[in-house]
Amino acid sequence: MIPIEILNAFGDNYIYVVEYGSEVCFAVDPGDAKPVEALISRRNIKLTHILATHHHADHIGGIGTLKKAFDCEIIGPDKQRISAIDTLARDGDDFDLGNMKVRCIATPGHTATGVCYFVTGKELEAPVLFTGDTLFVCGCGRLFECDGKTMFASLQKLAALPGETHIYPGHDYTEENLQFALTVEPGNETLKKKRKAVQQQNQHNRPTVPSTLAEEKTLNPFLKAKTWQEFANLRKQKDKF
Ligand code: ZN
Ligand code: FE
Repeated sequence: MIPIEILNAFGDNYIYVVEYGSEVCFAVDPGDAKPVEALISRRNIKLTHILATHHHADHIGGIGTLKKAFDCEIIGPDKQRISAIDTLARDGDDFDLGNMKVRCIATPGHTATGVCYFVTGKELEAPVLFTGDTLFVCGCGRLFECDGKTMFASLQKLAALPGETHIYPGHDYTEENLQFALTVEPGNETLKKKRKAVQQQNQHNRPTVPSTLAEEKTLNPFLKAKTWQEFANLRKQKDKF
């Protein structure tokens, strides 16, 4: 299995680096260049591509520096707001990176133009989904530019992917998300167990990602919502939580 490196930035952002072939890698949402530079010099690999999920600075802030240093190709949505983009990522677009296939899934909600990346390949033990600020472990992103109906439809699109898919989100909000989920379902023992495990991970400074889509479908209140109205209501509650 090709390892996915999990890097931290700004306290709660996750940046991912995936070695997709022999000594070549791509990075996802490098809000900060420094941890990526440190990793690729330590591992002596070449950064060839960057995938951006959306235009927020905490996800793209390192792109300029990395592009200058490594002349890598920038793939992402929204050229207006991510000026460094070389290749536009539109819904349904496929990119081949070595033996891996990257599929772009438009997921408007958190922003109007955001995307997620679904990655498959025989080197991976399971398909991988980079969700940016659309889907978090046991939570979802805030609605900055779209309504609840739009975000609900985007989350439903993700929910249709294979259950074994590993979920790699843009932030670690897991413990807070679980606290909220437990206000929705106070008696859910699986949620309580998960909260305990996550609290331990946090105490030891271990990442709380990835989760799996199957797990999200049983624990994440925003994926469990049956209608967009139910979803929108939950999102409003979470905004005040
Ligand atoms: Zn964001
Ligand atoms: Fe973010």
